Amino acid sequence: MLDAFIHPIGFGIFAAWWIATLYCVSLCQRHPNIPVEHRAWYNLLVLLTGPWGMAVILTRFRYPAHDAAAQEYRDQVEGGPVMRWLKRILGLQRPEPAQNTVIELCTADGKPVHQLDSRYGKRARQDDSESLTRIKNLLLDAVEARVTDVLIDPRSEDQYSVRFRIDGVLEEVEQIGAEMAHNMLNCLKIAARMDIAERRRPQDGSFMIKLPQLPINCRMATAGTLRGPKAAVRILDRRVGLKPVTDLGLSRKDMERMLVAANRKSGMILVCGPTGSGKTTTLYALLNQFDATSRNIVTVEDPIEYPIEHATQTEVNVRANITFANVMRAMLRQNPDVILVGEIRDNETAELALQASNTGHLVLSTVHGNDSSAAMLRLSDLGVPPRRLAGAITAVLSQRLVRRLCPECKTRTQLSAAQFDIAQEHGMTSDEVYKPVGCGECRDTGFHGREGIFELLFVNRAVDSVLTQDPTLAELRDAAIEAGMMPMFHHGMQKVASGLTTFDEIARVCGSE
Ligand SMILES: [Zn+2]
Repeated sequence: MLDAFIHPIGFGIFAAWWIATLYCVSLCQRHPNIPVEHRAWYNLLVLLTGPWGMAVILTRFRYPAHDAAAQEYRDQVEGGPVMRWLKRILGLQRPEPAQNTVIELCTADGKPVHQLDSRYGKRARQDDSESLTRIKNLLLDAVEARVTDVLIDPRSEDQYSVRFRIDGVLEEVEQIGAEMAHNMLNCLKIAARMDIAERRRPQDGSFMIKLPQLPINCRMATAGTLRGPKAAVRILDRRVGLKPVTDLGLSRKDMERMLVAANRKSGMILVCGPTGSGKTTTLYALLNQFDATSRNIVTVEDPIEYPIEHATQTEVNVRANITFANVMRAMLRQNPDVILVGEIRDNETAELALQASNTGHLVLSTVHGNDSSAAMLRLSDLGVPPRRLAGAITAVLSQRLVRRLCPECKTRTQLSAAQFDIAQEHGMTSDEVYKPVGCGECRDTGFHGREGIFELLFVNRAVDSVLTQDPTLAELRDAAIEAGMMPMFHHGMQKVASGLTTFDEIARVCGSE
């Protein structure tokens, strides 16, 4: 035994085993699927058993979801963390991805793009595969970074810029030569089954990114500009867009009221807010809390963002005369329990929604409006006066999204005297708040993720009786506050006080309060 230690080969094997073991311990430490509370035990196991123990762990804790799949893909491309580190030290370039990449660019019905473009000659296809690789990597980066939109625009005659929208804020991530950018756009157009020869006329389409066990739908819009074609891709990641009602960020009281409204057999629940304020997320959260097997759920949307199990979903298509109103009329004949109408924006849809609500259906929809009271009165602009809403409408939720402070780097600060004056009017008692700093976790922005702020107008008997008198905006708002509505700014200040976001964020989205 002792001889083996002294013998150079034996010592070499021994040392190699220990280096491998230490490496496995560090892998174990970083493995995303080992529960944090058990990590110490697994570390010990690996320390005692070396690579054998790691092999057991790797087979036990498979990579299920796509974050891990993405990492696996990275490792496949770059040869794992050690290779990555070596390459960085040696200054080597990132190699081309392996042939069997884990991410696939597919059409909306799931056919991979490389199977489609047989109309190209051999040379064109070679160029394509490079741009296809590039666009796949770009989309993978986007999915990993919780990006909601990818914008590819011409900067100049020969430069394109790629921007990501993360937490509602745009940020440039890459500049690409025009020729490569055109090829990348073509790959996307093929996936979205668009006409690639058309570079000027606006086109719409959708495609799919496939990661193992996780298809992600994307919508794309292209248009021609003076400097060349551009594209905007919307990434509809279910993990970002679908949440349970309890995770929306409503105050406890509002959440309970919302669930009361949603669990009535009939009535109308409206959600309002500007584009990108999370209205769809809220509506889907409400739909998902229904027991879909016992309730017949139908939707008409423009566009369908996420497929919902057990629901019958229809997409608006004006060219084919499939409008909100037409579909609703057809739906009412099928006597559904719950109807989701993407938006009420004309008199006909408003009337049908009201009729449905009055005849024992639960209607969910969105409507334009700055706050909950304004949204309700917006229906009178569409020809439905408030007195007719009495008894039909159960709740109006107005919402905005603000950026959430990065928990890793936020630090304590104090509100200015002027800010504290305003904040005090909205229920804040201390001027101790948090401010953004910036770290590696939040890519130096100081913010990570988004937080909803809400104003729920719950129609109780008192509000209902005010509605019958055709109130003005101010009268309706007063009645609602009397009935317990917390104004949005007030809810925002609660989130500032609890250190979730900043005063400036609330002021930014609530306008001048
Ligand atoms: Zn941070």
